[in-house]
Amino acid sequence: MAGISASLADHVTAESGKIEKSPDAFPENRRNASAKPKKIIVAGAGIAGLCCAYELMKRGHEVIVLEASGRHGGHVYTAHDGLSDGLYGDYGQEHITKPGYDKYWGYIKEFGLEALPYPRRKNLVRRIGGKFYTEAMLTDPAILKNLGFNEKEADYLSKHPWSDLELLYKSPYLDRFTDEYQPFGLGYDELDKITMADLFKKDGASKTAMGFMSGEGVSALASLWGSAILKLRGVPLSPTELFRLKGGNQMLPNAFAKRLGERVLLDTKVLSIVQGLSGVTVTCKQHDEEKVFSAEYLVNCIPLTTFRNIPIEPALPAEKQYIFDNVTYDSYQRFVFQASSKFWLKDGLSINMELNHPDLWEVWQSADEVDTTRVIVLGTGAGGISPQRALAAFREVYPGKRDTIEQAVSKDWTKDSYCPSCERTAFPIGEFHKFWPLIMQPHGRIHFAGAYADNLNWGTEAATRSANRVAAAIHEA
Ligand SMILES: Cc1cc2nc3c(=O)[nH]c(=O)nc-3n(C[C@H](O)[C@H](O)[C@H](O)COP(=O)(O)OP(=O)(O)OC[C@H]3O[C@@H](n4cnc5c(N)ncnc54)[C@H](O)[C@@H]3O)c2cc1C
Repeated sequence: MAGISASLADHVTAESGKIEKSPDAFPENRRNASAKPKKIIVAGAGIAGLCCAYELMKRGHEVIVLEASGRHGGHVYTAHDGLSDGLYGDYGQEHITKPGYDKYWGYIKEFGLEALPYPRRKNLVRRIGGKFYTEAMLTDPAILKNLGFNEKEADYLSKHPWSDLELLYKSPYLDRFTDEYQPFGLGYDELDKITMADLFKKDGASKTAMGFMSGEGVSALASLWGSAILKLRGVPLSPTELFRLKGGNQMLPNAFAKRLGERVLLDTKVLSIVQGLSGVTVTCKQHDEEKVFSAEYLVNCIPLTTFRNIPIEPALPAEKQYIFDNVTYDSYQRFVFQASSKFWLKDGLSINMELNHPDLWEVWQSADEVDTTRVIVLGTGAGGISPQRALAAFREVYPGKRDTIEQAVSKDWTKDSYCPSCERTAFPIGEFHKFWPLIMQPHGRIHFAGAYADNLNWGTEAATRSANRVAAAIHEA
């Protein structure tokens, strides 16, 4: 076993009986040092695991992060591989918002990172029924009525952003939510038994509007609560003031990992967990060898679809196991096109396009701070589609004359060994109370952080919020 890992293991191994302090390159690491350091294992070095470990380390606790793959960052993934001129692709997390993402913005400041405006939702052109529409066209009541919107909807969209359409129907319900962690007992509990689509329909939405609103398969109560949370935070339903990190979003996981140093153990896959009254023992496969770590607490930052396959002794209570067995995630693919020029400008077009093609859903430009005339166009689509097929889809529908795309590469998250699931999706209809708030509550000495463990499934925001919540809870325990 590698020496680094062995010495780190000793820091957190309950059997070692004492806590050794490792020298820190970063004095701020210990500025909130705790009088009684605790030993904590964090499972998963995605942004949640790194953030939680960093917060625990700052408070003076002994922490290690166990990561199955050979890189940290999980679904936050910036790569240059194969691209020219120093260009890069953000293959996972795309953007943050302002307002919103308060914890994330705090770290940008703390680590001296630079956030760049990311206008990927501005001047958006939408392909509807095979035809492209600009934002201006979609405020024209005549065009809107022609598309099938009813009078009320056409009037609303002529005065509000297209992405606010759901608010036409949701707004009357939202003010009753005043606590962003409490969706129940407000007189809406019965709305968990119907879908948001049912409620839109009941409240008079046209068939056309229903096609543009996300109501299928999500409980009306959960959907309204999600929108109410955004309202309480002052964040639009689909924000257009977006930002990303200069150099790629992985700059933030990198900053956490740099400060955590040797506390992050890569190629260390959690195989099984045993929980006792005073601590937790985790068996791992590290560099092809079995290794056992013990600590007073375990924080799970592995997505639940993976975590549920890790045996835990004694078994979790049935109601907790039910959550892990039934929670669902979505997953997709990120396409990265490298082009020799901003070809869309010659065609007088915006590259921010909703393509609504089954092989390629949307495209926009990224990495524009790189000093080159070449450009990166990012796209999203379903898993299992080759980058060439996605490029063919782009060429099939692109409304300009000619693109200058030189190569297409992709990352298919649906096929990733350790991160196959992207974001938690809606809880089953009528079962909200079985999942919330239990999904984020600790069981004994096992705590839960990650994009799945907060009230809103907005990836890195939920990850950093839940990581802070758990770090504070363990510190105060
Ligand atoms: C294409 C795409 C676009 C996105 N866009 C955005 C966006 O614009 N804004 C936003 O905020 N979010 C976005 N997200 C979501 C966001 O990236 C994720 O929600 C967030 O990064 C999840 O962080 P996490 O730490 O909770 O989990 P993960 O990133 O999934 O990390 C979990 C870690 O656990 C490790 N692991 C798995 N199994 C084991 C094991 N047995 N032992 C040890 N380690 C294990 C994994 O390798 C991984 O490193 C996007 C995601 C994708 C894929």
